[in-house]
Amino acid sequence: MKRNFEYNVCSWCLRRQFIKNFPLEKIVDDCEICHGIEKQIDKICNKIIQATKDYEYDTLLIGLILDHTFYDNEDKFRSRFKVRGKENIKTSLLREIRMRFSDISHKKIDLNSPDIAVTLQIGKKFETLVSVRSSTVVLSGRYKKTKRFQTITKNSNKDDYLEIYQHDIENILKKKMTRLTDCESIIFWPLGKEEPESLVLGNGRPFYVSIKNSKIISFNHDLSIRSDGITFRMNKKLSTLPTSPPLYINKVRSFVSCEGDLKSSDLKLINDAGIRIIEFSTKRNKNWKLIYNMQSKLKSQKKLELIILCDNGFPIKKFIDGDENVSPNLSQIFNKKCICDIFDILDIFSEDDLLN
Ligand SMILES: [Zn+2]
Repeated sequence: MKRNFEYNVCSWCLRRQFIKNFPLEKIVDDCEICHGIEKQIDKICNKIIQATKDYEYDTLLIGLILDHTFYDNEDKFRSRFKVRGKENIKTSLLREIRMRFSDISHKKIDLNSPDIAVTLQIGKKFETLVSVRSSTVVLSGRYKKTKRFQTITKNSNKDDYLEIYQHDIENILKKKMTRLTDCESIIFWPLGKEEPESLVLGNGRPFYVSIKNSKIISFNHDLSIRSDGITFRMNKKLSTLPTSPPLYINKVRSFVSCEGDLKSSDLKLINDAGIRIIEFSTKRNKNWKLIYNMQSKLKSQKKLELIILCDNGFPIKKFIDGDENVSPNLSQIFNKKCICDIFDILDIFSEDDLLN
């Protein structure tokens, strides 16, 4: 075993040990603890710059996995000199890398919610591996749809084609966003849905999108994507997905055909009739949604235009078509069979929109 002052260490390592009277001639560059790792800091920072150059971010966190031989060297030295409770080589090195990198790149270190997390793995001979992950980005936005999609009805039931349509919208957004952010994966959460042939006007339908390992993380500006008659506008970055999204109210315009002739007395049954509670039952449970207002206009003896103000998620088509699980439905109110020819979402309001 070495005697105390047979050790050669560098001034960087010596500073951590707080040893008095360490002989000056034993303070050398060829250090027995770190082998000169401090001199590698600029090189390491350059590697981080290379690894992060494709990312557009403001804040980062740097983590370090250091080869155990560096700890072992320091431990041996410390047990010889009975040094206890001082900062170790890894903590010291990491702090300096963070400071130096922050100076060079002008990026901020953020320990709590960094845009990207950089992990350094430094081996015995300073071989350095850098891996980068960005934090999941959650954006909220709205989409407008000014083109009617074709309905695929042959050989597929209604639930299937609604699903296919949802995938279509999702795929349009995913394709564009993947190209833009070079990310790993995207999840799209629209709040409610419409039929493929429906338009979505006004402010559009609210949605959230969650982007994994995106190269763009800061999103300091609004983002707009337009494709196939759909415009997606994302204007807010959220820290996480909301556990319960705000309530929305839809203004819907539909065109209805009736089997019997319509009279103005029929319209009185729905116009300004106040708030209605509509019950939807499935095999497993019951659900209720509100209609706040309905206004109708005769277009011909058998056709009418109907404007409905209702909760988001209200199944318009089922209500008008007289689905047996919807009560009361329009066919029951009119006492004649009705069919929804088409409906469009004129606008979707949040509670906040309505209060302002
Ligand atoms: Zn050293």
